[in-house]
Amino acid sequence: MTDALLFREVTKRYGRRAAPALDACSFRVPTGAVCGLVGPNGAGKTTAFSVVSGFLLADSGEVSILGEPGFSPARLKGRLGVLPQDAELPDRHTPPELLVHLGRLQGLSAAEARSESERVLTLVRLEDRIDSAIATLSHGMRRRVAVASALVGRPELVLLDEPLAGLDPVQAHSLRDALAALRGQTTLVVSSHNLAELERICDWVVMLDHGRCVRQGPLSEVTGQRGVVVWELAGDPPLSALTEHLPHHSWRRDGTHWVQEAPAGADLDAASVVVMRLLVEAGVGVRGVQRGVSLETSFLEGRD
Ligand code: ATP
Repeated sequence: MTDALLFREVTKRYGRRAAPALDACSFRVPTGAVCGLVGPNGAGKTTAFSVVSGFLLADSGEVSILGEPGFSPARLKGRLGVLPQDAELPDRHTPPELLVHLGRLQGLSAAEARSESERVLTLVRLEDRIDSAIATLSHGMRRRVAVASALVGRPELVLLDEPLAGLDPVQAHSLRDALAALRGQTTLVVSSHNLAELERICDWVVMLDHGRCVRQGPLSEVTGQRGVVVWELAGDPPLSALTEHLPHHSWRRDGTHWVQEAPAGADLDAASVVVMRLLVEAGVGVRGVQRGVSLETSFLEGRD
């Protein structure tokens, strides 16, 4: 699979004496992925987005965007959509006025821009607010207009910096569904601190910390879905029986849960039948079971 975005040893400092915001940072986002870009405050996520969108120039390293070496307005026109972290919107205009204008800037005809505006407003479920001035919309609705503006013209690569910030659970859920619907149509890179929401839409993860990429790969690998099962039990598991029947699996307590780690290549379906049988025999109730740890747990473990 080719990469829609590739960072190779990219370094960016905001001042000569400041610690680098990006420090020989290398990562890739495969074409067609929905990538979660995660990291603590100050990790370098917004800086990485700014380098891709041409707002900032890297000091060194290579950036490949849709196969182009670095940001090029001419070659990337209409191919890259960006939602900056603190996107300002023209308050007195209606959402369609803004979106048609952006479509026209991308070279769409007036009719194409109007139909594109309708399409993206439907996608973010704002089709019933087309006559409202942006200033009269709620924070969450304005955020959705901003997301829509990054999607005008069906760009091949879309960067969304904190699209879910400040949204209530209902709005976050609705926007998350709208973003999930883009899977397969575009490459999406979404930065968010809302790891539970992010985990539901992304299939690729890039974790940054102190300007470096500390982990990247398919979500299933990052969260260990292939080798980890998390059990929520009503009592302690029968560890000696489990070890006897599944000798290569290890067990550890994690707060109120038990984490089963399987050896590489283990058949987790078959193993779960054994575990369930032994739990039933020991009279231990199962309250919940999950393949892999959550993205949040994986993120926190990566910081230990
Ligand atoms: P957050 O999750 O808080 O949005 P982030 O991962 O997006 O953080 P950046 O905003 O890229 O992180 O910041 C990375 C580093 O660069 C931080 O140490 C920050 O203080 C510094 N930085 C960011 N913007 C500037 C700026 N305009 N001038 C000086 N330093 C900056």
